[in-house]
Amino acid sequence: MRKYVILGVQGSGKGTQSAMLADDLDLVHISVGDIFRWHVKRHTKLGAQVRRLVAAGELVGDDLVEDVVRDRLQLHDWNYGFIIDGFPRNRRQAEFFLESYDIDGVIHLDLPDEEVRRRVLARRLCSRCGMDYNLIAHRPETEGRCDVCGGELVSREDDSPEVLARRLEEYHSKIDPVVELFRRKEYVMTIDARADKAAVQRTIRTRFNLPPYLPSQEEPVRLSG
Ligand code: AMP
Repeated sequence: MRKYVILGVQGSGKGTQSAMLADDLDLVHISVGDIFRWHVKRHTKLGAQVRRLVAAGELVGDDLVEDVVRDRLQLHDWNYGFIIDGFPRNRRQAEFFLESYDIDGVIHLDLPDEEVRRRVLARRLCSRCGMDYNLIAHRPETEGRCDVCGGELVSREDDSPEVLARRLEEYHSKIDPVVELFRRKEYVMTIDARADKAAVQRTIRTRFNLPPYLPSQEEPVRLSG
């Protein structure tokens, strides 16, 4: 059983690295942001509660987030473990998590703000099937159209320069205490996230003594986040 938390600013590759780990280690990838986006898209009651905050890039209330995480982990569909992405985002969430679950490690992806801006503003998402693109690293074959389903590519509502600036500020003020709290337990590995995704994945695996990443494996499909 392997249980990890992955922390990192928007655009640091949390979703991609989590999907690469989850794919061949059979971990369940739990992205709190994806859960919220799923609810917003399907107009559920929870979706209505969080829609405005998610679009503005503001944090959803801790009680609600904790309920979502607890309910998700209670499904116990993670026989080989899980990797949780986008949580905890502040000290209180970290304390809740540490009281309720034990984890094997925290993967802390570190990326300078300037690089975050460059990456995030290039992100696109298929409005029909949710496939991710990036105008720097993963361009669609036809501009503005999804390679898989032909749907229109759009930016995530929270990937605008204004929202990003606010999120970066919020991220730094809230996440540093979380990293400190986890560090006291000595299982945080800070990883330089500027390298390409295969190199970052290799570093994560070396640092956590995991089986090596085999680049010949088929790319895991990532839907948003
Ligand atoms: P993400 O995909 O991780 O960037 O999350 C997208 C949005 O979901 C965030 O901007 C928040 O509005 C909400 N969200 C995700 N995770 C959390 C969390 N741990 N605490 C509060 N809000 C969250």
